[in-house]
Amino acid sequence: PNQHLDVTTFISSQPHRGKTAFVDAVTGRRLGFSELWLGVKRVAACLYSLGVRKGDVVIILSPNSILYPVVSLSVMSLGAVITTANPISTPGEIAKQMEDSLPVLAFTTCQLVSKLAAAASNGNLPVVLMDGAQADEKGVKIVGSLELMMENERSESRAKHRVNQDDTAALLYSSGTTGKSKGVMITHRNLIALVQTYRLRFGLEQRTVCTIPMCHVFSFGGFATSLIALGWTTMVLPKFEMSKLLSAMEAHRPTHLTLVPPMVVAMVNGAKEINSKYDVSSLHTVVAGGAPLSREVIEKFVKNYPNVKVLQGYGLTETTAIVATMFTKEETERYGSSGLLSPNVEAKIVDPETGRLLGVDQTGELWLRSPTVMKGYYKNEEATAETIDSEGWLKTGDLCYIDCEGFVFVVDRLKELIKCNGYQVAPAELEALLLAHPEIDDAAVIPIPDEKAGQYPMAYIVRKAGRNLSESEIIGFVAKQVSRYKKIRKVVFLGSIPKNPSGKILRRELKKLTTSKL
Ligand code: ATP
Repeated sequence: PNQHLDVTTFISSQPHRGKTAFVDAVTGRRLGFSELWLGVKRVAACLYSLGVRKGDVVIILSPNSILYPVVSLSVMSLGAVITTANPISTPGEIAKQMEDSLPVLAFTTCQLVSKLAAAASNGNLPVVLMDGAQADEKGVKIVGSLELMMENERSESRAKHRVNQDDTAALLYSSGTTGKSKGVMITHRNLIALVQTYRLRFGLEQRTVCTIPMCHVFSFGGFATSLIALGWTTMVLPKFEMSKLLSAMEAHRPTHLTLVPPMVVAMVNGAKEINSKYDVSSLHTVVAGGAPLSREVIEKFVKNYPNVKVLQGYGLTETTAIVATMFTKEETERYGSSGLLSPNVEAKIVDPETGRLLGVDQTGELWLRSPTVMKGYYKNEEATAETIDSEGWLKTGDLCYIDCEGFVFVVDRLKELIKCNGYQVAPAELEALLLAHPEIDDAAVIPIPDEKAGQYPMAYIVRKAGRNLSESEIIGFVAKQVSRYKKIRKVVFLGSIPKNPSGKILRRELKKLTTSKL
């Protein structure tokens, strides 16, 4: 492989001239591939004039936008590092990311500039506005407008940098579901390898809608990187809203959708209305990832949208997203599986207690080795050494098994297992049972401390509207189907289960709720 190759040059080698890369779902503005690549070149040159150099970190705080990829590809083309902040994060959370990554420059929108200013500590952070030229904001220094940079004809040439494939291209912060969010160093090699995965798994030149946040690896690696290489046309929604998604689908006629599980659930719950009011017949594939999707939801989805296949995708920020996916309709029917490992991925299942290698169908921790595995955690050698061993195996922290045909089944996250009387209980198993109950809309299982047993499982339940299912009925329903140690001991009813943007249950929030209630 060419050691000196940056991901932007790699992707732009297939320019897809004359075709549309992105469409803004709100304004209808289209960005052609030629305009995209010219914009990337000009913005990179402007950034160079502003002093951005190889290895410097640039932060982007923006909702989804057709210009998001222009920013990230320009930064990465210079050998600089893009770090993506979540627009729904608090100024305090963004401040932590900035203290860790020390950006030299920021891109943001007029609406978010005050949040960025509140998070910035030095008061002098240079900021480029993505949707305007001026904002009166103390605490930051507005140094440019992205639109003007894209129009700047004089800025096309710039000094060349030799970017090595093992240089960091993006610093993506993990969701922090199981602890503190960590800066994951994604290299140019990782992103180039991801493009190859997409090339092998998905076809060229399809139409899709982007609703999941581009700051997250799942969307960043897909919409803002790989799908550009594949020449797809993406309609971009600033954030997920079902009615806007449906209007976008009618206008844009997508063949593919990438969703997180709560969005799939929303499509199932609204299926009757959706099918009667909207024309969604162009759709043939839904890729769902980021968190488990239950068998019931997949079955209901397929019943309501018989021409659509639902493919699960499995990945971590640490693996530059997708490492396993479903592909065909037959694979989809292998309920519970997250798919087949991508061709460039090696996997093994290891007993987390003894380190012993386990075999087919045996459950243990999934270890992965692939060109998409991160370089490490930023400024955190200790956490890196705990997560990647000397032979390059990444310990995913996920409890999984692989069947004889190579399908991966995610049982649960090791850190979330409930330890009850020396046994281990997987919350996901109990949640899947609960979700199969016709009167339950949503469920989350967490441990409740107990002096004798250590921990017991308890459930938070969202009942279907108008149903009065009781605590004892729920406890009895689960008890009939599981061994004694897995029985649920307590039920609390809620209006909704707290989840993060990728659909993961925020168990630490539920634990806080439990502590305050006990
Ligand atoms: P942190 O590591 O900071 O707690 P996080 O791990 O939640 O954050 P991500 O990298 O977004 O951040 O999530 C990766 C995890 O998401 C995987 O380890 C796995 O547990 C879960 N996951 C992703 N896709 C699937 C899937 N298809 N089925 C089940 N679980 C999935």
